[in-house]
Amino acid sequence: MMLGKYSFGVGDRFGRQGKAQLEAVMAAGEQGLDITPVWNKSNREHSIIGTRPADVRREADDAVKACGWEGAYFVDADHIGLGNVDAFIESSDFFTLDVADFIQKGSPQTDVEAFVEKYARYIGPLAVKGIDEQFEITAELIRAAAEKYLVAVKEAGRIYRHIEAAKGKGNFITEVSMDETDLPQTPVEMLFILAAVADDGIPAQTIAPKFSGRFNKGVDYVGDVDAFAREFEQDLAIVAFAVDEFGLPAGLKLSVHSGSDKFSIYGPINKELKKFDAGLHVKTAGTTWLEELIGLAAAGGDGLDIARRVYARALARMGELCGPYATVIDIDTTNLPSVKEVETWDGQRFAATLRHDQTCDNYNPDFRQLLHVGYKVAAEMGQTYTDALRKHEDIIGQNVRENICDRHIKPIFFGDSAT
Ligand SMILES: [Zn+2]
Repeated sequence: MMLGKYSFGVGDRFGRQGKAQLEAVMAAGEQGLDITPVWNKSNREHSIIGTRPADVRREADDAVKACGWEGAYFVDADHIGLGNVDAFIESSDFFTLDVADFIQKGSPQTDVEAFVEKYARYIGPLAVKGIDEQFEITAELIRAAAEKYLVAVKEAGRIYRHIEAAKGKGNFITEVSMDETDLPQTPVEMLFILAAVADDGIPAQTIAPKFSGRFNKGVDYVGDVDAFAREFEQDLAIVAFAVDEFGLPAGLKLSVHSGSDKFSIYGPINKELKKFDAGLHVKTAGTTWLEELIGLAAAGGDGLDIARRVYARALARMGELCGPYATVIDIDTTNLPSVKEVETWDGQRFAATLRHDQTCDNYNPDFRQLLHVGYKVAAEMGQTYTDALRKHEDIIGQNVRENICDRHIKPIFFGDSAT
């Protein structure tokens, strides 16, 4: 089972936008861009909203049937570990093995020394195809990478074999993720992580590093764009090099997590993908739910009423809602409008404040981030919310499609400038 060169994470909080999301992928396909959709939902998301992995499978299958999609698609058990993977095994055929918690857990010294010895052949200047500068590899660098990452890779191997025992070899896609940690992995660390992945026999098709800079949920990249571009270029070169050197799956590619809305780095990403003729997997941050709110607000009347109520309740419960996302949001509370003020807004004003269009004066990233984590409030509204989604599905679907196709897929994979 192979993922394909370009793939894009869809999937949404309430499982209602599968069709609109797939239509966005199909619209890109009509313009000659082959993208594999992957429905992903993390354990955290399931537990906050009260859904189960089987619900994601149903959403994906229904969307595929409704749209007559004949291409490949996958259902991703996102950010799982040994403790929670079992609930995902039946419904998923893509597994994101999250081993960030096992980084720097102190690898046994004998393992570390054996690793340094095995890869001593790289000590010295290392030239990698596609980049001008050489890496300077020392025994200390290899040792430091082994000490930091060997335990984490071994844990990924344990999770992988657990899934393999249940599903059978070759019947699922494997991603190794180390993104939910504070320290970015350098390209040289990535080289030795991939060596360890190969040593452990994990047929990883995607690897999700922590890149430098902040990848906050639902808003643009925060950090040095040039430094990111250089790091991304080196990572792509290292991945291609590692495939040849270590015999990893030929389609191995990077996976960018919380990749939605990072408009300022899409240009550099597109340029480097073209330069290396590399593939990419992009995970979105569940922002399709914000397109539901935008559509509801723009619909006016009862739709706008629901959008306003969600904001009022989210504002009142900010601490509770932000808690699980503390490391991936940055909200300036002084920039949040009062409930009273929002009550004076019409639907267009609410939509413009929330929609991620940086050229629009009304756009407010703090408002957007708070609502992004506010989906629990909408979940608690139950049928009131889902009935409204059904009633206003046309305008919501239009927002979902435009967001995925025009603001994401096109600038990342085609190279059109983002709006
Ligand atoms: Zn992640």
